[in-house]
Amino acid sequence: MLQTKNYKFWFCTGSQDLYGDECLRHVAEHSAKIVEAFNASGKLPYEVVLKPTLISQASIRETLNAANADDECAGVITWMHTFSPAKMWILGLKEFRKPLCHLHTQFNEEIPYDTIDMDFMNENQSAHGDREYGHIVTRMGIARRIIVGHWASEDVQNKLASWMITAIGVTESSHIRVARFGDNMNNVAVTEGDKVEAQIKFGWEIDHYCVNDLVDYVDAVSAADVKALTDEYYSKYKVILDGRDDAEFRKHVEVQAQQEIGLRKFLEEKNYQAVVTHFGMLGGLKQLPGLAIQRLMADGYGFGAEGDWKVAAMVRLMKIMGSKVKNPKGASLMEDYTYNLVPGKEGILQAHMLEVCPSVADGDVSMRVCPLSMGNREDPARLIFTAKEGPAIATSLVDLGTRFRLIINEVECKKVEKPMPNLPVGTAYWTPKPDFATGCEAWILAGGAHHTAFSYDVTTDQMVDWAEAMGIETAIIDENTNIRDFKNTLRLNEAYYR
Ligand code: MN
Repeated sequence: MLQTKNYKFWFCTGSQDLYGDECLRHVAEHSAKIVEAFNASGKLPYEVVLKPTLISQASIRETLNAANADDECAGVITWMHTFSPAKMWILGLKEFRKPLCHLHTQFNEEIPYDTIDMDFMNENQSAHGDREYGHIVTRMGIARRIIVGHWASEDVQNKLASWMITAIGVTESSHIRVARFGDNMNNVAVTEGDKVEAQIKFGWEIDHYCVNDLVDYVDAVSAADVKALTDEYYSKYKVILDGRDDAEFRKHVEVQAQQEIGLRKFLEEKNYQAVVTHFGMLGGLKQLPGLAIQRLMADGYGFGAEGDWKVAAMVRLMKIMGSKVKNPKGASLMEDYTYNLVPGKEGILQAHMLEVCPSVADGDVSMRVCPLSMGNREDPARLIFTAKEGPAIATSLVDLGTRFRLIINEVECKKVEKPMPNLPVGTAYWTPKPDFATGCEAWILAGGAHHTAFSYDVTTDQMVDWAEAMGIETAIIDENTNIRDFKNTLRLNEAYYR
């Protein structure tokens, strides 16, 4: 499900014909060596493809339009090895629609003190040419990532790898389609939003179905398929019976297996990558999908509860962006539930009524069947676990009426002090940065929701770059946040994004 295209990034070197053929030969050789080193580094999650040196308006325009048209090209890395008069770039950049990286590097690392002459200076003048190019990109108001440093350095390669992940998020955003089974929960404000504007800004298609359209798919699942998937559950997850009868417990689990197969078929057939349910609108479903949704999320589907399509799309986005990270720790919908306010131990207990993604689990995952205090269906089966420790980000995309704002809070995930045997849901526990009180105050000031799209694998910088490419505001709550400055940032954003 997380399968995306075989994405590649194009490497485009800018120059001009003023310095003669020998210089241009060197330029092409240097670019080839850089691209080769990038691909051999093992640091970049996607392949870099070398393109011929660009020395004219026509070749620049042709190459950037070819990048637009190539489905596998997820972005272009540009570098001005020599001087490349930037008016040549205007038409190409004007038509270019993909993520742009400006790699501000230089082939040689050190000044060759003993041999340097004017020929060398003319050949190696990105310090000069990249400023000319950067000027026009700024003048044209094009969002791009600038990465500065020697191409062979670990720092530059890591930054390039990080930008590639953002670029995949930008590219894949327009492929996200959300199926809503039921509308937003009545009277709830923060899960609402402008779906037309979301499609304009993010490219998301957000459709609605009657939940009984799904029930038809669930009812059509064969008993043999249900048995096979239920057997798989029993082989993967520990069973916590809570005193229930074995056979009765299994019947409840089978309902979720049937839902998983039906949901998966529905989403695959109709090409949806994210899904929304609502515990109050279950039609002919016997249980609120719990285990079924948890399994889909673990496979890379986005999910939002109570009609929250914004979170569903964001979870899908963060799952794609995190998928190429080495040893990923997972992403999920989370919900701010309960506080621990003991001084020195402050934190927020995260959970949902069922649907927390087991990709974030630390250690064993168990199955339980327990009553749901909301809704009027059978006791649903669900997966239970606690989440991993370590740094992560919680994000909330809110609709402020005139614009979207993406709130990003860096958080530190921890273990709770004691087990919580009576709590039958997957949980995480974190302290927001910079500290509990400031983090919560800033979050509420920014209008952040109780539902979040949460990831251990995607960074604040990647989400900020994604938001910039989408043309929306970000409000960042991290170790440097203080309330006075944060309020001023929100005020400035109010003016800028009007
Ligand atoms: Mn909820």
